[in-house]
Amino acid sequence: MLIVKKISKNLIFPILTRLGLEKILSQTSKNRNLILCFHGVSHLTSNINKRHMDVGQFEDLLIYLKKNFDIVSVKDMFTPSKSKKRRIAISFDDGYLNNYTVAFPLLKKYQLPATFYIVTESFEIADYCLWPEIFDALKIGDQMSHIVFNREEFHFEQGHFLHAKTRTSISDYVKNMGAERQEAFEQFIHTYGIKQRLKKIDPELRAFCSEEQIREMSQSPLVEIGSHTHRHYNLSRINPGLVEEELTKSKRILEHIIGKPVVSIGYPDGDYSETVKNISEKAGYRYQLAVSFLSSKDHSDPRIRSRYSISNSTDTNTNKIMINRQFRKSGF
Ligand SMILES: [Zn+2]
Repeated sequence: MLIVKKISKNLIFPILTRLGLEKILSQTSKNRNLILCFHGVSHLTSNINKRHMDVGQFEDLLIYLKKNFDIVSVKDMFTPSKSKKRRIAISFDDGYLNNYTVAFPLLKKYQLPATFYIVTESFEIADYCLWPEIFDALKIGDQMSHIVFNREEFHFEQGHFLHAKTRTSISDYVKNMGAERQEAFEQFIHTYGIKQRLKKIDPELRAFCSEEQIREMSQSPLVEIGSHTHRHYNLSRINPGLVEEELTKSKRILEHIIGKPVVSIGYPDGDYSETVKNISEKAGYRYQLAVSFLSSKDHSDPRIRSRYSISNSTDTNTNKIMINRQFRKSGF
């Protein structure tokens, strides 16, 4: 299987894209729209996570997208297309500093619209980090063979921390947690000296945008700012009262910063529920973004759209093929 993958990536995919044959994959799909989800874009290579796309690859991809698709805003994806070409919208989750320093100048260069979904707790805490980075920080220095998180033991095996008894990966374990994870993380950050470890990573790969940077981006006609909640909880795992607080607080903070209504929400980890959708709508979000839909009924729900999370661990040709292919799977 690995050999087939290697041959595809190094031989077949480059030939296909050179001939433009990858476009058949989108052209034969009945779906005409696709929303892409990026995270970071960086000049630096990270060996601790895959959340940042190489800047050269990102620029190549923008050129390709502009040439082959109509690039529209996320908002436009909620109204029917009048365009002859298939449409793509670009979105970024989390609000990494490199969205401002690296991605934004390139979006301006090619005049492409994008929506940035921001975690507002990042404005309140110095050296803020999201939970995946907390575990990534453990890769700095000597590899630990086991850790204790939320009073449970996890063992390091084949590149991952697995629960000692259930063998669930630590990321799946966290995604299933509710609000109790806040305290568990505070304890963990303290016990394992996470902040000191993270300081060894270049800020381009870990820091978040400041309020001023968000404000500046929001003033561009190309940019829309959306909420990615306040604390990046998996919203289906917390109680409705807290969901409402997460949605209204982040909206209020962002509106105060940019001086415009914030009406778009990108769900952390793409996680939501029927209740979450209803609370979002009530809170004033007109555009809701998942990753994969919960149920096929969501295809006909005008409040929500699916997205495709783009890979940062592959090459541009493979991404071009994947994007065209995803019209069928994640498009609408
Ligand atoms: Zn996120």
